Amino acid sequence: MARYTGAVCRLCRRENIKLFLKGDRCYSDKCAFDRRSYPPGQHGQRRGRKITDYGIQLREKQKVKRLYGLSEKQFYLFFKRANRQKGVTGTNILISLERRLDNIVYRLGFVNSRTQGRHFVRHGHFLVNGKRVNIPSYQIDIGDKIEIRGKSKNIQIFSDAMNAVVRRGIPQWLELDKENVTGSVSAFPIREDITTPMQEQLIVELYTK
Ligand code: SF4
Repeated sequence: MARYTGAVCRLCRRENIKLFLKGDRCYSDKCAFDRRSYPPGQHGQRRGRKITDYGIQLREKQKVKRLYGLSEKQFYLFFKRANRQKGVTGTNILISLERRLDNIVYRLGFVNSRTQGRHFVRHGHFLVNGKRVNIPSYQIDIGDKIEIRGKSKNIQIFSDAMNAVVRRGIPQWLELDKENVTGSVSAFPIREDITTPMQEQLIVELYTK
């Protein structure tokens, strides 16, 4: 499947927001967005560009898609599924994205970024309810217990990430047992739990044109 392999800091600069795609570096003074907070490319610093309604909707979709590290096809599937569910489609999309296993291990602080989360999930380093799960898009349910698999607990990246999580905090719908390196889901997130500024209704408008 097509995957973006270019410089990820360009994505933050393009979307005009810190997407925290690089773990520790995002909190340091090396953050490219903090140093050059204008769009990348030759015309990045050009002023007075008009943006159409379509452009606004497109940028919002790209931002959310890039934040969770999905391809267009994967993201559209989330929209289609959310559209079939009861409730507000935009909120349904965000909640389904939050319930992905690669996001949960990031939120719990087991890893430094969602990209790293996806990598370690793919390599089978996590157990869900005692069973090895290597599908990053796996949807976590209420009551599920997530832990790092046996010997994998010795991997340095996991302990470094656990120390760094203090900086971003654990969302209230998740519980972390730091001593046993185990997390659980106490509730599904609600819209207010997702604090990254997102206008999900623009994504729905874009896809329902
Ligand atoms: Fe974005 Fe800054 Fe992190 Fe790069 S270092 S991914 S610009 S937040």
